[in-house]
Amino acid sequence: MRVLSGIQPTGPFHWGNYFGAISQYIELQDVADEAYYFIANLHALTTVRDKELLQQYTLDGAIDLLALGLNPDKAVLFVQSDVPEVSELCWLLMTGTPMGLLERCVSYKDKLAKGLKADAGLFTYPVLQAADILAYDADVVPVGEDQLQHIEVCRDIAGSFNHHFGETFTMPKGKVLDQSARVPGIDGEKMSKSYGNTLAVFDDAKRQRKQIMRIQTDSRPMDEAKEPDGDVLYDLLKLVAPQEQVDEIAALYRRGGFGYGDIKKALAEAAENYWAEVREKRAGLAAKPDYVKDVLAAGAKKARAKAAGVLERAQAAAGLYRS
Ligand code: ATP
Ligand code: MG
Repeated sequence: MRVLSGIQPTGPFHWGNYFGAISQYIELQDVADEAYYFIANLHALTTVRDKELLQQYTLDGAIDLLALGLNPDKAVLFVQSDVPEVSELCWLLMTGTPMGLLERCVSYKDKLAKGLKADAGLFTYPVLQAADILAYDADVVPVGEDQLQHIEVCRDIAGSFNHHFGETFTMPKGKVLDQSARVPGIDGEKMSKSYGNTLAVFDDAKRQRKQIMRIQTDSRPMDEAKEPDGDVLYDLLKLVAPQEQVDEIAALYRRGGFGYGDIKKALAEAAENYWAEVREKRAGLAAKPDYVKDVLAAGAKKARAKAAGVLERAQAAAGLYRS
């Protein structure tokens, strides 16, 4: 099994990124024959148009992944733009991709609806993502639910290329976790770096507490009972609190007579305990930027070697001339 996934350096990584995607990266690096994980800085250009900030988010992203348990001895960690072969493959795939396939993509439409500026890069994002996946012959792609549609697009693109030019690409499959496929943000929408509704994994305890206090709740009277599942506070609590406490709080919801303020306090405390260790580990890594850069350089070399072979295969299949 060959695993691949990417994450955009568009801001500090949040609980949704961790529980939806990164936790899978860590688990799969132990069982995959090969695992490739990258910081998607080319994708991030559709959102971050600030040179220093993009640089910083890119390195921070690598540090975050290492602190969260990504092991460079088991997985290849690299930065997307270090593998130019993927951009070349992207063009090859762009030709032959029907406009309608991209027009139907919900994530693009959601960003438009939120008033985010859309450029051609955002529109063609799923094609670059397809190139990312196909360039490494990946067969398993661990992601959050919001990315499943893009993986379907990738399968469509790969399928029609294979049909037209002969078997060239490996067909990938998306992999989501049932319990954390779509982690809600503090406003109840999907938690997203670009929506300003996140709980960041590496925020200090004080800022995290402040964000948790901002979580939007309904105006249910104190004494009224409520079904816990689907409540944003409870759904977040389930991710970071010990099972025993989760059960207690679920019972409290069903009984009624509790205030959301108390649940928020419990959530802030559970979160502080949950993240304490990785936050410490991150501080250690942040003090060793040269080590992190070495990891990325070694990763880029391995990733490039793999992608170059696949690009050559695809170019030959499409009849591109090589002197
Ligand atoms: P942006 O707002 O810039 O698109 P994002 O927060 O959506 O950022 P991405 O870098 O686009 O994060 O996605 C990285 C990975 O995290 C993807 O696999 C995506 O599916 C997953 N992911 C993002 N948000 C959530 C969420 N709220 N719940 C579960 N998984 C998520
Ligand atoms: Mg996203």
